[in-house]
Amino acid sequence: MVRWRTWAAAAMLAACASAATAAATEPVDARLRAAAGAQEAAVIATLHDLVAIESGSSDRDGLDRIAAYLARRLTGLGARVDRIPSTGGGADLVRGVFEGRGKLHILLIAHMDTVYDRGILASEPYHREGNDLYGPGIADDKGGVAVILHALALLRAEGWADFARVTVLFNPDEETGSTGSGQTIARLGAENDVVLSYEPSPAKAVAREEGVLLGAAGTAEVTMSVHGRAAHAGAAPEQGRNALLELAHRLVQTRDVAAGVKGAQLNWTTATAGAARNQIPQAAEAGGDARLTAPDAGERLLAALRARVASAPLVPDTTTTVQLRPLRPMYVAGPRGRELAELARRIYAELDGRPLALHPATNGGTDAGFAGSSGHPAVLEGLGLAGWGYHAKREYIEIDSIAPRLYLTARMLVELGRRADAGAVP
Ligand SMILES: [Zn+2]
Repeated sequence: MVRWRTWAAAAMLAACASAATAAATEPVDARLRAAAGAQEAAVIATLHDLVAIESGSSDRDGLDRIAAYLARRLTGLGARVDRIPSTGGGADLVRGVFEGRGKLHILLIAHMDTVYDRGILASEPYHREGNDLYGPGIADDKGGVAVILHALALLRAEGWADFARVTVLFNPDEETGSTGSGQTIARLGAENDVVLSYEPSPAKAVAREEGVLLGAAGTAEVTMSVHGRAAHAGAAPEQGRNALLELAHRLVQTRDVAAGVKGAQLNWTTATAGAARNQIPQAAEAGGDARLTAPDAGERLLAALRARVASAPLVPDTTTTVQLRPLRPMYVAGPRGRELAELARRIYAELDGRPLALHPATNGGTDAGFAGSSGHPAVLEGLGLAGWGYHAKREYIEIDSIAPRLYLTARMLVELGRRADAGAVP
């Protein structure tokens, strides 16, 4: 209730501010809208270029080529461009920095990699069917990359310089957990007041309305290890302590443990045990996929698992241990991210009342979690193009989302630049 009143007050203030400046901003907005519409063909050409460079997360050559392409494009827009080495030995990140004359420090992020292996274009070619443009990775996340490039092109043509620094960051490993880029995203996030992230929006054909995203689960890997004793399975099985059997018992025992841990989900997904058919196995290990949607859910899940396996074993003399390794931090927009989302919704409504859904959460991962992990920036996710079929077949974007999404980013940057000058960035 208190929170709602805070939002209402903020909305009223924003309404007053926009009424005062409406006369000055209207022509700019009309120009931006026309310019966004005029960029559609150029965005389609960029998407064609990007899809033509296959860039699966493990395709080092493809990732180097798409990085070179994007470095050229950013340089062409007037950015100072460099490559940041992966902290995990993978392909480089690409960074572009624009210096302006205002106060806003903002980071725009999208990823260059896709889930598809080299050769995918042979079975999934780039093509158009009516309003849908098909290609591997075209929505996730080449559409997001294209929105960033073209929104900045549009603002450059307008002569927009009402920012201190705009930083663009493209990473090469989002689909494999951002293991070599997450630290960099977190560091650059902490250096900025606002982060906008460009994962796709669900297609209108699927979700009825385009949207932005307010939350995403964190991920963690859970490992359960059982230590027993090896013995000849034929001659002296009674001397052994079967780790595989004990692991099976512990897996059944913990299969529903997350149900009692608020904000946690756990599914056991892998297991290994034993070295030979005729040997009682000494060691066994299982791996689990955890999804976390509350700040301390990982710690509580681990504590609950350890409490369960502290009970008497089924196989005497075996020991069971559990570890939890955090992977991707969760993303929570919070009040400041929500304020960005409300701003996005108001801007979308300028387009003849176009609706924008504020999706509360997904169990899929996003780099927005790394970007906001310092707690410093306001973060909003889901500003890429509307599309569907990601990580599947027949991935596509909706062409009629291109101009609205360009307009949305361009208008948000202009508005945030103004707010920063007034000391009122979320
Ligand atoms: Zn993605």
